Amino acid sequence: MTKETCYICDKPKTSGEHVPPKCLFPANKDLEPSENFRKNLIKVPSCDEHNSAKSQDDEFMLITFASSMAAEKGSGFLQNSKLKRILDRKPHVFNELLKHSTPIKLPDNENNVVETCIYSLDRERFMNQMEAVANGVYFHHLKQKVTGRTIVNPIKGFQTTSIKQNLHNAKTKKFAETLFPAKPVYGDNQDIFYYQVTEDKPEMIMKLVFYRNIEFIAVFNGECR
Ligand SMILES: [Zn+2]
Repeated sequence: MTKETCYICDKPKTSGEHVPPKCLFPANKDLEPSENFRKNLIKVPSCDEHNSAKSQDDEFMLITFASSMAAEKGSGFLQNSKLKRILDRKPHVFNELLKHSTPIKLPDNENNVVETCIYSLDRERFMNQMEAVANGVYFHHLKQKVTGRTIVNPIKGFQTTSIKQNLHNAKTKKFAETLFPAKPVYGDNQDIFYYQVTEDKPEMIMKLVFYRNIEFIAVFNGECR
């Protein structure tokens, strides 16, 4: 019997990695008895190095989502959202958010001044992690490792500060809108996360959707091992 190896590298499996990270899904103890957002979470074999929980990357992803939603929705952000229910239980995540935020005052649509915040988070670290999530979902879907580069772009609900990047994302979004409407939707907790793929082939394109609001497109290189 061959030993199972990590979803990213060739090291032996030492643990299971949840993709996306388990901490993005509200824990059952925080919910009504009828609710369950941790049904059949996706898990892939992982070495220690590629386990996000061991590098604290899992909570970093949660913080980044929270700050992105905050930036988009302004001061009333996250009301009644699933994400808010997780954050209520994790004050240290909010503290981390505040460390990276600068309060500012901005005019709203009716020219009233509203208080909001700008957040500076490590975008590169986040996008690297999103790439790992995409690779994990790919492995789960095809039972194959990604062999080449994976390119991930945010297309909805994720703020960037670069005009060029936003333009590029708008183009990717337009392209993505033509690809996925008729495709099956995968994931047993779709309020938190689901994905779609263009085809069940190594050269697939994948859409990843978090909290029904934040969307990414992943393009995988074609070769398989
Ligand atoms: Zn590994």
